[in-house]
Amino acid sequence: MSTVFTIGEALIDFIPAVKGVELKSVDSFQKAAGGAPANVACAVSKLGGRSAFIGKLGADAFGDFLVDTMKGIGVDTSFVLRTDEANTALAFVSLKADGNRDFSFYRNPSADMLLSEEEIGDWFSVGDILHFCSVDLIEAPVKYAHFKAIRTAKSAGAIISFDPNVRLPLWRDPEECRRTILEFLPLSHIVKISDEELTFITGIEDEKEAIASLFVGDVQHVVYTRGAEGAAWFTKEFEVSVPGNLVDAEDTTGAGDSFIGALLFQLHLLTDVQQQISRERAEELLTFANAAAAITTTRPGAIPSLPTFSEVVAFQ
Ligand code: ATP
Repeated sequence: MSTVFTIGEALIDFIPAVKGVELKSVDSFQKAAGGAPANVACAVSKLGGRSAFIGKLGADAFGDFLVDTMKGIGVDTSFVLRTDEANTALAFVSLKADGNRDFSFYRNPSADMLLSEEEIGDWFSVGDILHFCSVDLIEAPVKYAHFKAIRTAKSAGAIISFDPNVRLPLWRDPEECRRTILEFLPLSHIVKISDEELTFITGIEDEKEAIASLFVGDVQHVVYTRGAEGAAWFTKEFEVSVPGNLVDAEDTTGAGDSFIGALLFQLHLLTDVQQQISRERAEELLTFANAAAAITTTRPGAIPSLPTFSEVVAFQ
């Protein structure tokens, strides 16, 4: 079995116990390990796959908590570096009454931003997957660490998966955010994008036209998520979609990460991803990922809400 590597941030979400109220007036907080790449690594492992997380954490109690959480789920944390130059990233997440996030993020100058190009090794093999999310890539040195990881993984024959994961209010300059995403896009084989991100990234209103514009460079697969409406898979040859599952969504935090994690879990079981994805296979993979993500929305938090393989099978 190959490995799904994820690279980037791991952080701790603080989620208020009371929904639909301002952060300052909540009664209490729930502490949960998170950060998109860490979520995806955990999603793969929780389903029974092999995953490894690449990133830098502070030499603090929050970093210990993240490493312990990932290890506890079976993620290989041997590529995690620790530093006392910065603290581990923290996020404060509030929930709207419908379970969707009303994201508030107080960004500390966190350790994940300090991962450098020199710290990336030759860790990848044919059939491995490197998944990355751009949210924090705007600042060097971590941006160059990502370029190096992508270059190294590709030359070893690994598959590159990219989720732009745009949190617009977090970016000081939306245009710079867009430019950064467009820099990484052509280097990726698989792109996971949400309906909210599509227009922002492409600047094109028409959905089909916008999706078509994403097939640049090495991009072969675009996986498009539509929240409660489900998801679709586009290649240059076919398009297939699945409707959303009707669930009582409590907290959608991590739904997209659970979705792509479930998809990558299935893909890393294949020996030749490029060759083997037929329209029928894509539909099966979408159905599986759509179920995993739907389960995630019914529970609070990101990592704590990820499903096991048998839960997904039972749900489908
Ligand atoms: P995230 O909120 O984690 O950033 P995202 O914006 O990347 O998610 P979405 O399109 O919101 O992506 O959701 C990803 C997937 O999660 C959807 O394609 C769907 O499978 C599932 N999902 C999200 N919200 C719901 C919901 N309310 N009911 C059922 N399934 C959902």
